[in-house]
Amino acid sequence: MIAKPAPLLQLEKLRVEFHGTAGRRVRAVRDVDLEIYEGETLGLVGESGCGKSTLGRAMLRITEPTAGSINYLGLDITRLRGTVFRRTRADLQMVFQDPFGSLNPRRTIADIVAEPMLRARGMSRADAQKAVGDLLDQVGLGREAGARRPHEFSGGQRQRIGIARALAPSPRFVVADEPVSALDVSIQAQVINLLTDLIRERGLTMLFISHDLGVVRHIADRIAVMYLGEIIEIASRDDFFAGPAHPYGEALLSSVPTLGGTSARERIELAGELPDPASPPSGCTFHTRCRYAVDRCRVEAPALREVEPGRQVRCHLPLLTVSKGAAA
Ligand code: SF4
Repeated sequence: MIAKPAPLLQLEKLRVEFHGTAGRRVRAVRDVDLEIYEGETLGLVGESGCGKSTLGRAMLRITEPTAGSINYLGLDITRLRGTVFRRTRADLQMVFQDPFGSLNPRRTIADIVAEPMLRARGMSRADAQKAVGDLLDQVGLGREAGARRPHEFSGGQRQRIGIARALAPSPRFVVADEPVSALDVSIQAQVINLLTDLIRERGLTMLFISHDLGVVRHIADRIAVMYLGEIIEIASRDDFFAGPAHPYGEALLSSVPTLGGTSARERIELAGELPDPASPPSGCTFHTRCRYAVDRCRVEAPALREVEPGRQVRCHLPLLTVSKGAAA
């Protein structure tokens, strides 16, 4: 039996709560357990508002978790402070959907990209200058781009700058949050190809967050599906796209005709909107929209459990079982 590799990052019961209206607590991330293995790209998918961006930000403590732990190389990141936290955090970087908002318009690209090398890695200015040129070449902008300022670039080029800045401190793990969803389709493919090359060349581990299953299919090794702050399915990319085991994943996949396998695959309309995270439904939180729901689903919350090797599902009646006509 082949031993399972140790995860690079391990989340245990990670929770993020916000203050909602009328003093209500909104649990945006609900006690998530998740392992991300070195060198893999994990695609995190789900509807807008499901908590996937909040989870990605919490993993880097851009948003502070309310409870739970994030284990990275034997350290619980949620407990780190001061210099140890800053040094550790340099290993963990983020590519944002809109990098322009975080690029100082008065600084040159070379200064913007050099800053984390100087601050987080303590490089000399001469070394940083050379490394910036190499990095700008690597992301396809060319080293001469370093003398220019952010407003001189197109959307796709700005995302390349965002990627260069995220890679500047030589991280081991990157969260890419909808990195191509604001770009034209033709540019999306270029940026995805760039990310794929960088992952391979640098041995990066990545959490790739997207609502677009077509994009995720190109880049992810495994897929995690999120619904109302919970992970409801984790599977290899091939298993997931061959047929999700959770009814929500089944509906998501069916809404993308070119990805739904055969043209005979039924299109499944999800009933209603995503419920209010401040007052999630009882039992299985998906029961209000699930076409397979039975009485048990309304009262008993399913646990995330392994239903076949490498596949975990949070459902009393995973589709693998339903299709065989048996209940769990
Ligand atoms: Fe649907 Fe029930 Fe499974 Fe929830 S537990 S996804 S309601 S079948």
